[in-house]
Amino acid sequence: MAAYTETDVLVIGAGAGGAAMSKRLSDDGIKVVCLEQGDWLHPMDHPHFYDGWELERHRAWSWHANVRMFPEDYPTTGNTEPMMMNGVGGSTLHYAGAWPRFKPVDFRKGTEHGVEGTIDWPISYEELEPFYAINDAEIGVARRTGDPGNPPRPEGWGPANRGGKVGHKMGRGFDKLGWHWWPADNAILTKPKDARLPCNDCGFCLGGCPRHAIASTDVTYWPRALRNGVDLRTNARVERINAKHGRATGATYIDRITGARHEVRADIVVVAANSIGTPRLLLMSAQEGHPDGLANSNGLVGTHLMFHSWSFEDFWFDEPLEGFKGPEPAVLYSQQFYDTDTSRGFVNGFSLQVGTALGAANSALGTNTGNITPWGARHREFFNSHFGRHALIYVQGEDLPVRTNRVTLDPEVTDSSGLPAPHVHYDLHENDRQLIEWGRRRAREAADAAGGVIDTASTGIGGIDGPPPGWHIMGTCRMGNTPEDSVTNKWNQTWDVPNLFITDASSLTTGAAVNPTSTLQAVAVRCAEYIKRRHGDIRTQTRTPGNADAPGF
Ligand SMILES: Cc1cc2nc3c(=O)[nH]c(=O)nc-3n(C[C@H](O)[C@H](O)[C@H](O)COP(=O)(O)OP(=O)(O)OC[C@H]3O[C@@H](n4cnc5c(N)ncnc54)[C@H](O)[C@@H]3O)c2cc1C
Ligand code: SF4
Repeated sequence: MAAYTETDVLVIGAGAGGAAMSKRLSDDGIKVVCLEQGDWLHPMDHPHFYDGWELERHRAWSWHANVRMFPEDYPTTGNTEPMMMNGVGGSTLHYAGAWPRFKPVDFRKGTEHGVEGTIDWPISYEELEPFYAINDAEIGVARRTGDPGNPPRPEGWGPANRGGKVGHKMGRGFDKLGWHWWPADNAILTKPKDARLPCNDCGFCLGGCPRHAIASTDVTYWPRALRNGVDLRTNARVERINAKHGRATGATYIDRITGARHEVRADIVVVAANSIGTPRLLLMSAQEGHPDGLANSNGLVGTHLMFHSWSFEDFWFDEPLEGFKGPEPAVLYSQQFYDTDTSRGFVNGFSLQVGTALGAANSALGTNTGNITPWGARHREFFNSHFGRHALIYVQGEDLPVRTNRVTLDPEVTDSSGLPAPHVHYDLHENDRQLIEWGRRRAREAADAAGGVIDTASTGIGGIDGPPPGWHIMGTCRMGNTPEDSVTNKWNQTWDVPNLFITDASSLTTGAAVNPTSTLQAVAVRCAEYIKRRHGDIRTQTRTPGNADAPGF
């Protein structure tokens, strides 16, 4: 028996990008092995079934790998705490399912301002649009069409999630100001799909959804990929992508249960280990011919990390709003201030997203901003005037892709397999600070226009978990125009290694002012179509073609 497995395509990571890639390729009979360092999540593992569900976010269901410290996690060091999950579904096991798209202008920010190394995407919104549509249909999006602030989108699988009293109130506030707003697109079912149930408004989405209403990839892409015959290997932690004569040959992984090492050989290797895990793996894969890591001859692997800049503005009103009901992502958003207007003193813009709150424990613990219910005489009075009377406005800004915001390897800290931990360095640029400060004032105006504000609190710059909360981890192996400005060409093919592709949030060139997963999955679907149609070319290429020379579909 051979000491290795052979396949057509090896995919590393079973999260948002890796799942979309594996399913799409296997639809056409391409043989796929996918290696995932984590395991499956059982529905009963969700905290919803236990009394302490609201507190579990601070313990076993923490968004921070360094807090929950599961064996499948790897620690991170540095000056910030990226939020992610490791398992079949990746970080979508935790995510809220907010499903906005990037706007056409987001693909042209290099031309628009080019500040701090910002470059244009090598593709346009129009080129990506058909793949957004394919991906939306796969996962089931709830939406209302007709948003005048965005290009047309296809009908959703179901209608938009209900806005509830919070949505109606804040919508009236935006109307009074004459500002754009629209019900949010969410990857959350409002009618059944496959074996998934629609949302029941229990209101605890960021702890995973036990009804499978949220489109995490363990319940969307993976069941279909497995039926297609994808060989998904869990608890398989890749330690190195192997290369020979300038081409990737496969990878070596450690079985986390037995500790044994195995090799998978493949014609094509696709990395989708997220914007921390992917640069970490490429840097760990330094070997003969690639002394600074794989695909890193220009030193750009790990650079231009983006997180989005945030502030969370809590507002309490003089009337019951039932904000504890309904799914947790934004019920509506305003993109009135999305485009660059340099008269404001900064480039880029932001979305104002209106969200709800959790249950009683979260309210008592200060909602999003630490406005804690006092203990003692005033407890009941404060709690009654705050619980269920709250609206959250997130100011979600586009942060600049700064070269020195980057992932490197920590020489001293290791994971449970003895592999080096990533060191993550991130500083908010002065542009982004100004943007958020300006946006915070607009959030206050919107709440005042809605009327009846009795209390406010804010995280200030830095979101709920400042300094910057890294739950949208992007950049680090961006696609671009030339080998000088990026890690991959416009088909996600690394400039150095033609049969090595990167299809997760690492490949995003700019971060826009909206949540990233619909875009990164659209890019992954587009890349899968390319690999399907150009398999023969890619198998024989010894040089990665430039964007103008690449054969296309
Ligand atoms: C709390 C929270 C809320 C969020 N809310 C939203 C939202 O509402 N909307 C939105 O658009 N986005 C949201 N996000 C972000 C979203 O989850 C990510 O954008 C998305 O999951 C990233 O996809 P990815 O493919 O880059 O990586 P992931 O989905 O993180 O997948 C990477 C996978 O690779 C595996 N892996 C890594 N290294 C290795 C290795 N060496 N060997 C084997 N496997 C490996 C990991 O275990 C993981 O499963 C949220 C994130 C968090 C944490
Ligand atoms: S509110 Fe809806 S989407 Fe969120 S966890 Fe509950 S059922 Fe799932």
